[in-house]
Amino acid sequence: MINKGSLIVISGFSGVGKGTVVKRLVSDYGYDLSISATTRAPREGELHGREYFFMSRGEFENLIDYGGFIEWTQYVENYYGTPKKYVEESLQQGKNIILEIEVMGAMRIKEQYPDALLIFIAAPSIKSLQERLSGRGTENEATIMKRLKKATEEAYDMDKYDYIVVNDDLDVCVSTVNSVIESYACRRDNNLQFIQNIKDELKDI
Ligand code: 5GP
Repeated sequence: MINKGSLIVISGFSGVGKGTVVKRLVSDYGYDLSISATTRAPREGELHGREYFFMSRGEFENLIDYGGFIEWTQYVENYYGTPKKYVEESLQQGKNIILEIEVMGAMRIKEQYPDALLIFIAAPSIKSLQERLSGRGTENEATIMKRLKKATEEAYDMDKYDYIVVNDDLDVCVSTVNSVIESYACRRDNNLQFIQNIKDELKDI
């Protein structure tokens, strides 16, 4: 099968557990992951170069000027951006690469890469999301409120995504997202070269 690399954009409400879903997709199925840059402070347990490239606003703004991002945005007072080099190299090597980014960034990716697959991870309800955010204990009440407000804004853009997957049970969610990605790779438009090769082979019989 001749599939070119696909860009897989995963977004979802803050606190929905999409980070965990993405980590499992990488560890269980071997997807490549784009590491974003951010000006937000690392949370406990986060490592520079693993969860994010943590940088100052000055460093981030320099990278913007230098054209180093495919997309970037400001989210709850911090910058977040997708470094261009790694994504383009992965795609050229035919790899499937996951971008875990918010809605505005996802829309910018779709404009530049119309073949990108957009998946939205939703919570079963806003109430369950609120409980998860408070339970995480990594943000204060004011930040939680800002993130919830953002989540409700993001809910309006859910209909711009190709697939919506509810994260109620982590294992089910991870395997459903993987199935979506696998089905997408089998789409006719992603296999035009393969179809042509088969036709060419048939000519010789
Ligand atoms: P967090 O601070 O919880 O790690 O991330 C906050 C939000 O920023 C999440 O919705 C996450 O998906 C998004 N995000 C992370 N990296 C990027 C990026 O490179 N670009 C954009 N547009 N959003 C990002």
